Amino acid sequence: LFVSFEGIDGSGKSTQARLLADRLTALGRDVVLTREPGGSPGAEEIRALVLQGDPDRWSAETELLLFTAARRDHLERTIRPALEAGKIVICDRFADSTRMYQGLSRGNLRSKVDALHELMIGIEPDLTILIDMDPSTGLSRAKSRNTVEERFEDFGHGLQAQMRDGFLALAEEFEHRFRVIDGARAPESVAEDVWAAVSPHLT
Ligand code: C5P
Repeated sequence: LFVSFEGIDGSGKSTQARLLADRLTALGRDVVLTREPGGSPGAEEIRALVLQGDPDRWSAETELLLFTAARRDHLERTIRPALEAGKIVICDRFADSTRMYQGLSRGNLRSKVDALHELMIGIEPDLTILIDMDPSTGLSRAKSRNTVEERFEDFGHGLQAQMRDGFLALAEEFEHRFRVIDGARAPESVAEDVWAAVSPHLT
């Protein structure tokens, strides 16, 4: 089972991914909790590169290639081996983040994103949990935790709002695998909704 979590910065998706992993582990399930960009040694190196420094040193297309390279490595080294061993993979962001961030934030690159995805990645999660969150709340949460990465500090409210709307549109586009959960509540309540979405997929 392959489950991804998506949402804007500060939506609480990483917390929810961890709570789900803890709950499944407590039930004796074999779980791999991983994240993007990153999730394998090589992809973590790319993460360190892309999330620091002036984002404009690369074109939008080059940035897309770097994120795709990281995903390919993550897939080869972490995700596929875990799925083949029958483990549950929980991924904090996956290709939907690229459809949004690389696909939308620096111009409309969606057709290139899709072409590269088909060529180099080729798999989608069985289930994608979108933790939906108002961008003002999300951004102030992210800032208070000091987890806004250097290159994304100036994403700002406008872009976060665009990303939120974009994620909601993606949830409609891929409605067979998306579940949208209201993130503006206590983490335990959100986690209950996440569990209700995930547990029917457990065999
Ligand atoms: O989810 P996390 O906080 O680890 O993401 C780190 C940063 O990278 C965030 O600011 C997110 O918006 C950005 N990001 C991105 N493109 C992706 C994935 C994440 O711009 N494909």
